[in-house]
Amino acid sequence: MNDLTSEQEEIRQWARDFARRSIAPRALALDKDPESPARDELLREAAHAGVIGASLPEFLGGAGHDAFTGVLATEEFAAACSGCTVLFGATTLGISPILLCGDPAPLMQFVPPLVESWQTDAPRLAALAATEPDTGSDFIFGHADGRAKTRAVRDGNGYRINGRKVFISNGSIASLVTVFATTGPGASMRDGMSCFVVPSDTPGFSVGSVFDKMGQRACPAAELVFEDVWVPQEYLLGQEGTGWALNRMIMSVSRAPVAAIALGIARSAYEKALEYAEVRVQGGKPIVRHQAMQLMLADMAIRVEAARALVWKAARAVAAGEPSLKLSSMAKTYASDAAVANATDAIQILGGYGYMHEYGVEKLLRDAKLTQIYEGTNQINRFEIMEAVSDERA
Ligand SMILES: Cc1cc2nc3c(=O)[nH]c(=O)nc-3n(C[C@H](O)[C@H](O)[C@H](O)COP(=O)(O)OP(=O)(O)OC[C@H]3O[C@@H](n4cnc5c(N)ncnc54)[C@H](O)[C@@H]3O)c2cc1C
Repeated sequence: MNDLTSEQEEIRQWARDFARRSIAPRALALDKDPESPARDELLREAAHAGVIGASLPEFLGGAGHDAFTGVLATEEFAAACSGCTVLFGATTLGISPILLCGDPAPLMQFVPPLVESWQTDAPRLAALAATEPDTGSDFIFGHADGRAKTRAVRDGNGYRINGRKVFISNGSIASLVTVFATTGPGASMRDGMSCFVVPSDTPGFSVGSVFDKMGQRACPAAELVFEDVWVPQEYLLGQEGTGWALNRMIMSVSRAPVAAIALGIARSAYEKALEYAEVRVQGGKPIVRHQAMQLMLADMAIRVEAARALVWKAARAVAAGEPSLKLSSMAKTYASDAAVANATDAIQILGGYGYMHEYGVEKLLRDAKLTQIYEGTNQINRFEIMEAVSDERA
């Protein structure tokens, strides 16, 4: 029993069908070889089916899915392969500063050409670049004053950007990057950060290393290099110095879908373990009838339900126009811890088979681990939750 409308159920079924048809058959191959031609095929199918950018408003050519419908679909995609889900979702994240900056001019300039490309054989993608080699958590938490080194300096009728970003999802395959850079004196994060659009064919922009990742391997994570990259004034999103506020807004919106990715992994681990436990016979009966296995499976089921309750609550707040960084961080933290716990238990329940690549369960643990790290590590998310709690009590 759930409280979904028939339209929400339909979208969930649409996502489930896409996951079964297009994602699941490619998941293991893309985990082994992220550069395989299967990635481009999958991206084309996702773009044509409206999976990429589904949350964009209809006037921009998207399906207009609200944040709640979005997490329903995201859970389905991620249950089939979380790396593929990030491969689609990184574009939405990359566009998010353009959508949220409150200025319609860049919206109309940059988004429609991307959306139009999604019906062609060469869908164009986006990426968001905040993290730097020396400032990861500090960048997210706003403690990188003077150490966030990517700088944008006024030059003629525009800005010249220099710096380096790391771990950028889709960075090596994106045609448009939104990049955070300091513009203020003393490189203060809270009032000296700005966000810019940089098309990947801009002179001075290049892709450095593409990292060999432990999990979610279908989506490349790259180093991006900005060497005297000049962009015109119109490529600044919002006002100079509003980058920190924009980054906070993005986090309160984007952590709910990240939590849904973790939920998809947690659910997949539980379902795979349960199916296996029902047919694997040891000690004279299916292992699901051994109490030790039942205790583990019950805990896995509890984690899925509890994670979904938090994810839905956080996403409903976003859909209602009241995004809450506290709720989204709670959902992300709980669901990612649940994903790691469930993937670990699933391997245990499958025994030796769980440890083998072909069964797709060890992949879940490698994939799950990342959900505790990106969008702010779970330590930083917990600090942010407590900051909000202290604010409420002040
Ligand atoms: C595969 C992948 C994809 C990513 N995609 C993107 C992307 O698309 N765009 C983007 O901008 N970034 C991206 N990131 C970056 C991600 O958000 C950062 O990795 C994350 O914020 C952590 O930063 P860090 O790796 O520098 O770790 P650090 O900040 O160096 O943290 C190391 C450890 O110290 C802990 N720690 C840090 N500060 C504190 C503190 N104050 N108190 C207590 N403990 C602390 C952390 O919790 C962690 O355990 C991605 C990362 C990965 C791995």
